[in-house]
Amino acid sequence: MKINVIGAGPAGLYFALLMKKSDASHEVAVYERNAKDSTFGWGVVFSDKTLSYLRDSDEPSHDEITRAFTNWDNVDVVHRGERITIRGNKFSGIARIKLLHILQDRCRQLGVDLRFETNVAGVDALRDCDLLVGADGVNSGARERYRDRFEPDLSVRSNKYVWFGTRRLFHGLTLTFRETGDGVFAAHSYKFDSLTSTFIVECDPATWGAAGFASKSDEEARSYLAGVFASDLGGHELLSNNSKWINFLLVRNARWSFENVVLLGDALHTAHFSIGSGTKLALEDSIALHKCFGRGRDMRAALAEFERERKPVIEEYQRAAYESLVWFENMRDYVHLAPLPFAYSLMTRSKRITHESLRRRDPAFVAAYEAAKETMK
Ligand SMILES: Cc1cc2nc3c(=O)[nH]c(=O)nc-3n(C[C@H](O)[C@H](O)[C@H](O)COP(=O)(O)OP(=O)(O)OC[C@H]3O[C@@H](n4cnc5c(N)ncnc54)[C@H](O)[C@@H]3O)c2cc1C
Repeated sequence: MKINVIGAGPAGLYFALLMKKSDASHEVAVYERNAKDSTFGWGVVFSDKTLSYLRDSDEPSHDEITRAFTNWDNVDVVHRGERITIRGNKFSGIARIKLLHILQDRCRQLGVDLRFETNVAGVDALRDCDLLVGADGVNSGARERYRDRFEPDLSVRSNKYVWFGTRRLFHGLTLTFRETGDGVFAAHSYKFDSLTSTFIVECDPATWGAAGFASKSDEEARSYLAGVFASDLGGHELLSNNSKWINFLLVRNARWSFENVVLLGDALHTAHFSIGSGTKLALEDSIALHKCFGRGRDMRAALAEFERERKPVIEEYQRAAYESLVWFENMRDYVHLAPLPFAYSLMTRSKRITHESLRRRDPAFVAAYEAAKETMK
């Protein structure tokens, strides 16, 4: 097969390497507009369940990725200056650029043709192949070019967020809330290597407006937010990687493929970063699509099977991620809660974690919450 992939993010690279690995005679080319060492953002988190999929699909890259992981099992919620720790939530963090380098190296080893600094302006020019994969991220040009075929449903969400790094090390996924005269700010932070943490700041549009970000430069915004979270950052600064305010874009597509074109990863669907699953879903998409081809199906049957099998899984994640996103959009309504019930509300926001499953994860936390509820009666 001749396969053209647009985008060398986790979805494109992983699909390319799996296809080439299963049949060295496939001609697989990946077109990426950026240089091989450039990336947006900082670290990404994985829930531990992903890892067996990665091992079963490609052991060498799995081993490299897990060697680079920082692991933890706690979510810390900081509200009104009080820290509540909830155990039993296994996560791993890795620098996004490290993950990409591992996948790039593995692609090269297997003979995938990686073409960096190659912006695909005309998607049609790459259609002359057996399979064209649009793995070109949330603002996918492939999806846009064939919008009448994919019928995307795009929803620009109201909250604003910005993705920073910091040398302050946050052990575990730390969700910090700070109320200011301008409104409420949330920070999603976690350590992803021995020196650096991701630090994503999110706020609602009213807070954003009151803080005057529309007329603040990137530098001014960074220093304002470093002030909001001064006690959490412990004297460390916020690091920018061309960090800009963004509105989360919720992506769904009515159809996932047509003829010889298919979408993967963020081009196909997004899940709010508060459930930390975008990269995992992108990699799992690649595994699922690769498996459909491995069953000896012809192109149409493989693409149809991919959509049939994968769509229900994605829809379930998107439902959970949506609940989580809505919670953060309405966080102003929860900050009147005392730290324990606040943390409980946050932990159960996606409705995937129930009271009982939370009790199994951390009985002491649930017992403390129940006791606090009693005293409030
Ligand atoms: C603030 C934030 C925090 C996040 N945190 C996490 C997290 O903790 N855990 C997690 O799992 N996920 C996280 N995600 C989501 C994660 O980043 C994405 O889900 C994941 O990167 C999707 O992979 P992808 O390969 O589909 O797309 P991308 O990683 O976006 O890759 C797409 C690639 O296509 C390239 N491209 C685009 N257009 C063209 C073109 N015309 N020509 C050539 N190349 C092109 C881009 O340069 C890019 O390299 C987060 C996202 C955000 C915004």
